[in-house]
Amino acid sequence: MPKTEQDFIILPGGFHIWGIPSRLSGLPQQIVDEGSSGYALYPMDNPEWRKIATDTMVVMGDVPDEALKTLAVTAEKLEEMLQREIGGPPRRHIYTIKIFRDGAQFCAYARRCGAGNAFSFYDPVKGELVVHFSMAANAEDFEQTYAHEFTHAYMHRVYGVLDPVWFAEGMAEYFSRLEWTNKGFKPTGKNWNAAMRGEEIVNIPISEVIRTTRDDLYGMKWPQYYAASWAIVSFLLKKHPQLVEDILLKNIVDLDPLQKEYRQFLKRRLGV
Ligand SMILES: [Zn+2]
Repeated sequence: MPKTEQDFIILPGGFHIWGIPSRLSGLPQQIVDEGSSGYALYPMDNPEWRKIATDTMVVMGDVPDEALKTLAVTAEKLEEMLQREIGGPPRRHIYTIKIFRDGAQFCAYARRCGAGNAFSFYDPVKGELVVHFSMAANAEDFEQTYAHEFTHAYMHRVYGVLDPVWFAEGMAEYFSRLEWTNKGFKPTGKNWNAAMRGEEIVNIPISEVIRTTRDDLYGMKWPQYYAASWAIVSFLLKKHPQLVEDILLKNIVDLDPLQKEYRQFLKRRLGV
């Protein structure tokens, strides 16, 4: 008998169930169980949707309850990592996170938010993180997307930073390549997108990246610009963390003099 949606349940271990990854992140099941033990799930106006509300998060979606719990715990662990890695004034923030399983509903919603072509997005007007589970997504890709958007949400809340666009995307790329350790999520410092385009990325100067407009960065050359933005952020975090703090605090910085050092760093990092 062919399986129908109702036959499936959420299992740990990376299988695709209900067209969504059963393991939505690298979090061990035990961490999800411990983290979500006090969570209550609430019904919403739309009968397919549920939400989890904690002191710091409202996570809602038309995904199965177990998936919603995983996503809420993942968001909490991502916040802990960002607090540890880039800090910021200790204030309480609320994160609103929407997860769509239904692709058509996601697209309609994204269009209404002005993010027509996105697979996921952070809406700075509503302060809302919105993601879609595609049939094609695997756990690693999904976690990366989720962490990317969450980094935008964190920087917006903690530092009021959405610009410059290369920095926002570079940080989101850097803090979305993660591994789970006994101290929580940790950036791997690796980026397949940059590694594949090594030579090309090394040859894009800092001055070109930091002067890209939003349209350029999201345009035809987006894989190159995202990789280059990731590369500059990786370089700054490693060699000049004070400058990262300055940009977060909206101080004026001059990165042009670092071009030579950056190129050397990147050539070694990408092995070209
Ligand atoms: Zn982004």
